[in-house]
Amino acid sequence: MSVGTVLEPDQIPVDPALKPSFKPTKEVTEDQKLWAASVLAELPVAIRFNEHPVKEAKSADGTFWRKAFVIVVIPNKHFSIQLYVGASPSDLEYAQRLVARAKSGWFNSDIWEPHVYPKSGPGFILDPYWEWDGERDCDVLKPCVTPGCIKDFHPYRNGDFNASHELDMIDDTEGRYMVHGSNYEDGDGWNAWLDVDLDGDYLSGAEGVKTLRDSANDMAWMQIECDKLNAAAGVGKVAA
Ligand SMILES: [Zn+2]
Repeated sequence: MSVGTVLEPDQIPVDPALKPSFKPTKEVTEDQKLWAASVLAELPVAIRFNEHPVKEAKSADGTFWRKAFVIVVIPNKHFSIQLYVGASPSDLEYAQRLVARAKSGWFNSDIWEPHVYPKSGPGFILDPYWEWDGERDCDVLKPCVTPGCIKDFHPYRNGDFNASHELDMIDDTEGRYMVHGSNYEDGDGWNAWLDVDLDGDYLSGAEGVKTLRDSANDMAWMQIECDKLNAAAGVGKVAA
């Protein structure tokens, strides 16, 4: 069981705030489309975590319901997806689909409720329970607190880290190779990884030698960055 903070659905009484009959209208008018295109379509989408646990429920007709996020939008500023503790990659995908639909004009008042935020000003919030198939993901998302990592969050499986922390990748401008700085939390700390795109071909001649030199140079630089982080964290292998 990957979601440790919630009860089995059968043990949860149906929340009175839950709307078992809730069926959002999917009707989109031309005016809504135009409004969304000018006000919502280009907004950045931030992903945050809050302290509320995922809520699950089952209504009398046997339907499962789940609430794993709220979405706030401040027109002309940003969307903010706020994931609950125990939210899964599927929950995030669903939230992102709802944002994409809002941007395309499906922004109906039955799901997006007006709200004024003290710091950001007037906006809208979407926070209903959603009909759910009762199946939980293997993975749960948690925010990343590892120094150096450019990712905001990672999946965990049964409480164990199930991804890689990443540094800013070096992407060779000529498309010959990429150098990654990755940390798999496997005791080896951060390490540089070289990914050469040979496309079934061989390195040859002066150009091949140049590719090797350039990639070795970038890989060495990346490993220095990795070693600095490893030294600060007291993990990984000591460089020779
Ligand atoms: Zn990370």
